[in-house]
Amino acid sequence: MTFEDIKEGLKKISKLMNLNEKEINILLKFKRIAKKELEINGKTYDAWRIVHNDSIGPGKGGIRFHPAVSEDEVKSLSFWMTVKTSLVGLPFGGAKGGVKINPKELNKEEIEKVSRAYIKTFNEFIGEDKDIPAPDVYTNSQIMGWMLDEFEKIKGRHEPGTITGKPVELGGSILREKATSEGGRIILNLFLERMNKKPRETRVVIQGFGNAGMNIAKMLHDEGYNIIGVSDSKGGIINKSGLDIEKMIKIKKEKDSVIYYPDIGKIYNKELLELETDVLVLAALENQITEKNADRVKAKYILEIANGPITSGGDDILCKKGIIVIPDILANAGGVVTSYCEWVNNITGGIFSKEVMEGILKEKMTTAFRRTYELYEEQKTKTFTMRNAAYIIAIKRILGAEKARGSI
Ligand code: GLU
Repeated sequence: MTFEDIKEGLKKISKLMNLNEKEINILLKFKRIAKKELEINGKTYDAWRIVHNDSIGPGKGGIRFHPAVSEDEVKSLSFWMTVKTSLVGLPFGGAKGGVKINPKELNKEEIEKVSRAYIKTFNEFIGEDKDIPAPDVYTNSQIMGWMLDEFEKIKGRHEPGTITGKPVELGGSILREKATSEGGRIILNLFLERMNKKPRETRVVIQGFGNAGMNIAKMLHDEGYNIIGVSDSKGGIINKSGLDIEKMIKIKKEKDSVIYYPDIGKIYNKELLELETDVLVLAALENQITEKNADRVKAKYILEIANGPITSGGDDILCKKGIIVIPDILANAGGVVTSYCEWVNNITGGIFSKEVMEGILKEKMTTAFRRTYELYEEQKTKTFTMRNAAYIIAIKRILGAEKARGSI
């Protein structure tokens, strides 16, 4: 989604909230946009680290390695981090980073070089009380480990709270890898309870089979949901009577795509979005449902695990059709909540046990869901969405911090 699209969405919210010019402008302002070129083996790659807003606390957000990364995309992603961390009540602002590169074309040594070069270039902008990176699309705990190592070498001191999603050996949390999916599972269960629907009666289609998509598929399958379709960037697989997710994961790990799952209906990614299902989980990239295809979507409910998978125009059409969207800033906040627990442990020398962290994740997700759903229900008009409710709650907290600082 382009930042222009976000601006459009924000116009609607500001009408609902009666925001004035100054308040709108402060939400559209970026604290810092750092763009540099990374030089690796004679080639250069564009790279960014952007802080959108840090009125509540240090910038927080992942770094993605992807060939489609652009400044506009990183701006949008950092904006969503500001609203997400605010919605779930974390002491953070919003930030994001990215490198325009295709990691699938690189070997391990080259990826390590890119990771270290990123920190060599951007180290002055990050820190445990300044801006705290984490993994995102096509980055993982090993990459965070190299990045922290490079950062600490440059600074000549330990500062593990500078980066979350690290390997457990460097102060990472054992819960982090599955945290986004676990948060999504909690939210979906809470939502379906309100709809009086049991997992066993619920068909689920999942777009995206990376870390988040694969883990949520496993969790929902274990709870008795009927997963009837999954896809990745190469294509999709469907079986109306349910897929064997254990087998699917094995195939994905061995052959790098779900499409090698034997003797079942193959389907294009586009068609998968249009299947008849109770729940559609979007766990791939941005801009999957737009004005062009929203009309053909037949799911009853959509859970946004990816960031920004539905454009503002797509959202309007889904709303008119009565499809309820559980928005990304709520549904995928489990990752950053667990990053927060990791950060607290890093700066305090480890006060949270695994059980306490699990409790915090559950509590933060449940409270954010309850507040969002109750506001949604209260205001229920045909055009008021759960996304509107989530944004209103988040924006109130951000503007509260800005006012307390005297910036507005
Ligand atoms: N990249 C994740 C997100 O989009 C997590 C960010 C973090 O843990 O800081 O929410």
